[in-house]
Amino acid sequence: MNKTINYQEYLKSVRWRKRRMKVIKRDKFECVACGQVGTEIKGITINNLNAHHETYRNLSSKNPQKEIDDCITLCQMCHEGIHNTTNYLKEHDTRRTKK
Ligand SMILES: [Zn+2]
Ligand SMILES: [Zn+2]
Repeated sequence: MNKTINYQEYLKSVRWRKRRMKVIKRDKFECVACGQVGTEIKGITINNLNAHHETYRNLSSKNPQKEIDDCITLCQMCHEGIHNTTNYLKEHDTRRTKK
């Protein structure tokens, strides 16, 4: 993670909000782990859904697509799960084909 960026500040930025929307749209407003569907309000806010960074290497990258590719959509519950449990996604991910 780029140390010059304060992550909490970044999460409030317009740049991140736009990317977050694209992540959630790409995942069709569904949590990739449990399939919970979010609600879009005025095209900005998605109820219950978070975009989670699988890696921070492209945080605030000049190329938005790189950062979007590093993010997945999770509901509040799964988001907590993934931060607290290793292998959470391996057990819950419904979107990806297992290798
Ligand atoms: Zn979920
Ligand atoms: Zn996260």
